[in-house]
Amino acid sequence: MNSHIVSGAPTAALAHGPEVMVPTSPAEAISAFGDGTGTSVVGGGTVVTPMLTHGYLWPERVLMLHAAGLGQIVDGSPLEVGATATLAQLAKVAPEPLASAARIPDYEIRGQATVGGNLCVGGDLQPALIVLGARVRSAGEPKGQHVEGIEDFLARTGPRLVLSVQVEHPLAGAYLEQRRRHAHTYPVLTVAVARRTDGIYVAVGRQAEQAVAVSCPSVERALAGGASAQDAAGAVLDDVQPEDDPLASAWYRRRVLPVLVARALNQLEGQR
Ligand SMILES: Cc1cc2nc3c(=O)[nH]c(=O)nc-3n(C[C@H](O)[C@H](O)[C@H](O)COP(=O)(O)OP(=O)(O)OC[C@H]3O[C@@H](n4cnc5c(N)ncnc54)[C@H](O)[C@@H]3O)c2cc1C
Repeated sequence: MNSHIVSGAPTAALAHGPEVMVPTSPAEAISAFGDGTGTSVVGGGTVVTPMLTHGYLWPERVLMLHAAGLGQIVDGSPLEVGATATLAQLAKVAPEPLASAARIPDYEIRGQATVGGNLCVGGDLQPALIVLGARVRSAGEPKGQHVEGIEDFLARTGPRLVLSVQVEHPLAGAYLEQRRRHAHTYPVLTVAVARRTDGIYVAVGRQAEQAVAVSCPSVERALAGGASAQDAAGAVLDDVQPEDDPLASAWYRRRVLPVLVARALNQLEGQR
């Protein structure tokens, strides 16, 4: 492992700055991460690097993953995507709705941002991964590697090192988002839908600042009961409680969300 000390820390307690660890294999990365205490992980660094640079984060250790051999994509069934694969790479191989979710409009960020970072920072992949029933492989506490469903992963708090994400190919999928034009930032709302062998799955993201994406069981139940896309979409507000944030008001989100869900479901229907 390459390891060196960065100088110039502003505090007496960390006079030598954080230790920077650059593992060169997955096993080294897992070992360097340990239980994650005091460690900031850098995937593509699009979010965490400015935080480190400007002193919003001052960890004891920085774990840089770019050389850790965690970027492999195995295009099989399931599709397995390593944590440091970029969103641009993911968009080329993933099924819908994941491919569209990965195609974030900021071209430079798409080429630099990683799958693991997106998952941990509450990015746009979350609803697409939920409707695909994705499984996440991670390491950390409790000690060892864990493979768990995406919703269990998102519900769990505490440090973990994402290693890879697995998804099965659905029968069909669609992803829609509402964005402010020309804003180099997150969307106002995201909706992912997928038809799998056992039914239609629906999930919503960006309903509030830093919100974790959620599945929409009321919409799914309505569809399973034979409701039209329009009627089923109305049930989304039973599952999702939009909030105000700097990008949009709760009022706006409540108005737009059922429309977005109905459009996504119509797109899914059009793929029959
Ligand atoms: C201009 C701009 C536009 C953006 N637009 C969008 C957008 O449209 N949609 C969107 O979803 N996001 C957007 N982002 C946010 C961000 O770039 C992406 O979400 C990106 O995927 C984050 O990945 P990263 O590898 O750069 O994360 P990093 O910055 O490396 O890390 C982000 C967080 O995840 C942790 N982390 C990283 N990798 C791992 C891992 N393997 N295991 C555990 N923890 C890890 C870090 O410690 C940190 O807490 C935008 C950012 C910018 C600057």
